[in-house]
Amino acid sequence: MTTAGRAYYLANRERISAQHREYRSRPGNRERQQAYMAKWRLEQPRIRRDHLGARYGVSQADFAGLLANQNGVCAICPATSDSRGYRLNVDHVHGTTRVRGLLCNRCNTGLGLFRDTPQLLARAIGYLLRFVDMDGVSRVAKA
Ligand SMILES: [Zn+2]
Repeated sequence: MTTAGRAYYLANRERISAQHREYRSRPGNRERQQAYMAKWRLEQPRIRRDHLGARYGVSQADFAGLLANQNGVCAICPATSDSRGYRLNVDHVHGTTRVRGLLCNRCNTGLGLFRDTPQLLARAIGYLLRFVDMDGVSRVAKA
């Protein structure tokens, strides 16, 4: 946003916010706007390249190579994009630029919630398996 655009926004913030709220409240507009933004982001190669490159040192070619190595899906689950329709996330070792792979946002968030700790994840798996038969059916649901 330009400086003049920013000044205009700040001077008219409440009226603009009210207009946006009103627009999003109409049936289908929120979803239409989210779909438009998801499409727009995927079509912005310069922004994608700069974003990936600046944060992780990953070029678009690197990203495409990682994606091909993972057969086009998240390194953990079968998702081909994150749940909002955006490209998969570049997963890296925290505090470094070392790339581990591409993850959907759910798997990426899941690892973060388990503090990227394999021991905690293994304990979580053990905990879940106590309630699941070998065929993967939840014992609680079957009862
Ligand atoms: Zn995933």
